[in-house]
Amino acid sequence: MSKIIGIDLGTTNSVSCYIEQGEPRIIINEEGARLTPSTVGFSKDGDRFVGDIAKRQLLMYPENTIHSIKRFIGRQFSEVRSDTSKVAFKIVDIGDDTIGIEVGGKTYTPQQVSAFILQKVKKSAEDFLGEPIDKAVITVPAYFSDRQRQATKDAGRIAGLDVLRIINEPTAAALAYTIRRKSAATIAVFDFGGGTFDISILDVDTDVAEVKATAGNNHLGGNDIDNRLVDWLASEFKKANGLDVSGDRMVRQRLLEAAEKAKMDLSTSLETEIHLPFLTADESGPKHLQTVLTRATFEFLVEDLLRKAIDECEKALIESKLETTEIDEVIMVGGSSRIPKIQEMVKALFVGVPLNKSFNPDEVVAVGAAVQAGMLGGTVKDVTLLDVTNFSLGIEIEGRRSAKLIPKGSTVPVVRTQMVSTVVDNQKTVKIHVLQGEEELAKDNISLGEFELTNIQPAPRGVPRIEVTFTIDTDGIVNVSARDVRTGAQQGITIHSPSGMSQQAIDDARHQLQQADEDDEIGKEAQDLRHSVEKQLFALENFLRDSKLSLKKREIFDTEQALKRGRMALVKKADAEALRELSQYLNNYQAHLKQRVDSAAGGSISVALTGPE
Ligand code: AMP
Repeated sequence: MSKIIGIDLGTTNSVSCYIEQGEPRIIINEEGARLTPSTVGFSKDGDRFVGDIAKRQLLMYPENTIHSIKRFIGRQFSEVRSDTSKVAFKIVDIGDDTIGIEVGGKTYTPQQVSAFILQKVKKSAEDFLGEPIDKAVITVPAYFSDRQRQATKDAGRIAGLDVLRIINEPTAAALAYTIRRKSAATIAVFDFGGGTFDISILDVDTDVAEVKATAGNNHLGGNDIDNRLVDWLASEFKKANGLDVSGDRMVRQRLLEAAEKAKMDLSTSLETEIHLPFLTADESGPKHLQTVLTRATFEFLVEDLLRKAIDECEKALIESKLETTEIDEVIMVGGSSRIPKIQEMVKALFVGVPLNKSFNPDEVVAVGAAVQAGMLGGTVKDVTLLDVTNFSLGIEIEGRRSAKLIPKGSTVPVVRTQMVSTVVDNQKTVKIHVLQGEEELAKDNISLGEFELTNIQPAPRGVPRIEVTFTIDTDGIVNVSARDVRTGAQQGITIHSPSGMSQQAIDDARHQLQQADEDDEIGKEAQDLRHSVEKQLFALENFLRDSKLSLKKREIFDTEQALKRGRMALVKKADAEALRELSQYLNNYQAHLKQRVDSAAGGSISVALTGPE
C-alpha cells in the first residue's frame, strides 16, 4: 500500500508528516523547510509560485499574492464581505454567492487555490519519500462547517489527493499526544493559529481518544492580532505625520509584515522597534515610520481578542461538565499560543494545570494527522477516535422553524432518522431544507442545501410516511437522504453543490492542474536543455580559440557555423526536441574535432557531421 501522509493545511503555514517506525517525520519541502507558507503568488507572466517564494513577493505584488485562503474556503461571498478589505487580492462573487479570487485576469475558487498549496505539499512529500503520494489525511479546525470540510476535501481531490479522512485539528493534536504518553489522561488542547481558534477537552488513553467538549471561533487568530497592530501603526503614523495611509494596500501590506514581526518579537522581548523607511511621501518629501511597541502596549491593544479565546475555553469547560482540577494538562498548539499574555490567561483559567509546551506548536497537528494516516494504513496501532459534532443539524419545519435532528456535541459518526409527511392532499413532492446551527428560526441558521423527494403516491395529507436520514461521517461531513416508506422509493435526492463546486467543476480543475503541471515539466526540461546547450557552446567556443592553430580552415568555418546555429536556437527559444537534437550534435561534433586535433599528426579523421537545421 502506498504511503498516506498527514497534512495540516494551515491558514498561514502548511505542514505535512509521515510516521515511520512509530516516529513522526516532518516532510522537508523543496526549499529545505519544515513549514510551507500557505501563500500562492502569480507573476506578471501568469507563472504560479507556492510557499516561500510567493510569500516573499507579497510585499511587491500584494494584489497577485493570495494568502489566508483558509478563511474563505467553503464560505459564501455574503459571509466574507467584511473580510475582503483585509486582503490585497481581489475577491468577487462569481454567481450564486460563490467566492472567486481574481488574479491576472483569471478567477480561481478557494478550493483551487488550496489545491495549489496541497499540490506543492504533495510534490515535496514525493521528493522527500521518493515515491508517488496520492492519499492523505487533512486536518481542519473543529469549528469548520460541513461546507468547509467538503470544500477542503474537494481541494485535495483537485490536487490529485484522495483525502481518506478529514480530522479536527485539536483532535489531531490529541492523537499526537497518544503516541507519546502511555497512560490515561484528561487533556485540553488549546489551538490558537493564524486564522482560527479551537479548544477541545478530551479523555485520552492508549487506545481511545474521546472528545468531551469542543468550542472555538473560526474568525479568531494571529491574523486578527496583526490587523489590530496595523491599525495602531497607521494611527501612530498619522499622529506623527498627519497622513492617513490606511487605504493604501501596498502600505498596509508593509505594515502587516512589520506588525507580525513585532508581535513575534514580543513573545520573547519586552519591547521591539518598528522601522519602516519611505512608507509614503507627500510634497515635503518621503515619510518614514519609526516607533517602539512595548509588550504592555501590545497586550493592551489585543487583550479583547485574547479574551475571546478564553471565553471559548469557558464554554468548552461548561460543556464538558469537568472542573479544571480534573484536567491533567493543557496542550498548547498553534503559533499564536506562543504569546506570553495568552499563556498567562490560560494559566489563570486552568488554575494549577500545567501547560504542556513540549510539542512544537507548529507541527503537532500535522503529526496527529500522520498518526491518523498511519492508523488507516495499518502502520500505527489503532486508537479509537470519538469526536463530536460542533453544530446542531436539523430540517425546516412548519412555521419556518428548525427541528434539530442531531444536537451539537453528538459523537460521530452518527445516524438519525425522522419521519415527515405531506401537508396537503395528494402532494407529490416534499422539499427537505437542511439546516446547520443552534437557532430557533430556520433563517437564522446556515442552509446546507435543499432537496426534494418526488413521485410520492397520491394520498391524503399526513398519510405518506417519509423517513429522512441524517448521517455525519467520520470526516464530519453530512449526508442526508429521504425515503418514501410505502414505496421504498429513494429518489431525486442531492444536496445542491454543498461546497460551491460541482463534481464536474472539481474534475475540470484537477485536469487543468495536471495539464499545467505537465506543461511545467516540459518547460523545465526545455530549460535544462537550454542550460546544457549554453554550456556546450561555451566549451566549443573555448576549444575554437585554444585550438585555432591546429584546425583547418574548413573546420574553423564549420565550428563557427555550429556556434551560430546554436546561439540562434537559444535566441529563438527552440523547443525541447530541437534542443535535445542540437545538444547531441554539439557533443558529437566537439568530440570528433578534439579527437582530430589530438591525433593531428595523422590528420586523417574526418569531422564532417551533419547538424540539425
Ligand atoms: P499556525 O496557523 O499554527 O501556523 O499559526 C500561525 C500564526 O502564529 C501566525 O499568525 C503567526 O504570526 C503566529 N505566530 C507564530 N510564531 C509566533 C510567535 N513567536 N509569537 C506570536 N505569534 C506567533
